[in-house]
Amino acid sequence: MVNYLIIDQRKLKMSRLVRWLCRSKKQHYLTNQLLAFSTDNKKPSNTRATPPPIRVSLTESAGRGVFATRRIGAGDLIHTAKPIIAHPSLSSINTVCYYCLRNKLNSTDQNVAFCGPECEQNAKVFYDVEKEAEWVAFHDYCRSNGFKYPLLVKRLACTILSGAAHPEILDILQPASLPHHILLEMEEGFNLLRQGFTKADAGSEKMAFLTKKWYNNVLARIRINAFRIELAPGRYEDLLSSAAACVDAEAAVGNAVYMLPSFYNHDCDPNAHIIWLENADARVKALRDIEPDEELRICYIDASLDHNARQTLLLEGFGFNCNCPRCSSGD
Ligand SMILES: [Zn+2]
Ligand SMILES: [Zn+2]
Repeated sequence: MVNYLIIDQRKLKMSRLVRWLCRSKKQHYLTNQLLAFSTDNKKPSNTRATPPPIRVSLTESAGRGVFATRRIGAGDLIHTAKPIIAHPSLSSINTVCYYCLRNKLNSTDQNVAFCGPECEQNAKVFYDVEKEAEWVAFHDYCRSNGFKYPLLVKRLACTILSGAAHPEILDILQPASLPHHILLEMEEGFNLLRQGFTKADAGSEKMAFLTKKWYNNVLARIRINAFRIELAPGRYEDLLSSAAACVDAEAAVGNAVYMLPSFYNHDCDPNAHIIWLENADARVKALRDIEPDEELRICYIDASLDHNARQTLLLEGFGFNCNCPRCSSGD
């Protein structure tokens, strides 16, 4: 049950990468991951799903954005999305599935493990490479600095080395540049990642993509496009009233990068939000009634923060000054 993005191709050049991905048989796995989303995953797979009621188009001020193509009711599931890459946080690494981040109930396993044979099979695209390499120093580097995004870069690099993804797969996401002090911190991560693979003896030809430039570009994109995954504690219907509820970082089971959810712009008073129920599959839900052609926006940060705190976080984390109606009103 795969639907496809409705993209205004006159305005958006990114379709080139998607077309390339669709043509390339080698990319089959990640192309499916990249483009797969649906409005209802309870329907049997032999019925045709209705396309999600959205389109991606350029906005007047914020680059591309997601717009409603019809009326959407408060509480409606707009679509789901599978991650392009996901990785558990290091504190959750032994308690959640190493592929989908589902909680492994009653597991006493102290090693990384999967929630079932399907995830174990899907994980082959990175795990066959990863398990041959040496990650102690890289994980220590992430743990001691509190870094989470280099883990996503590592997983992506493994997927590329296995031939299941192209080095440019994240170029479809909004680019970003890293501040100089972060670039210096990242250099150690890059060196440790290369060292990890050296022990796996991946071969210099395959490793050619893994340059400092590639690492920094991918990390910069991940930094502004990744979502922190917090699994909902109860029934998701209970969450409808809480807009973009923020939980401590310790509650996060991991981080993930998605394609379609990354196209949503920010608003401090959002009309949509993303929740995770049992694993890293994202569910975008409407927080209130949305009219046709209205832009769908999510809140990138904790919406309960005051005006100054929100502006600071958005500028430092995402590089923009928020001019949403709520901020403009001084709230
Ligand atoms: Zn799983
Ligand atoms: Zn705002």
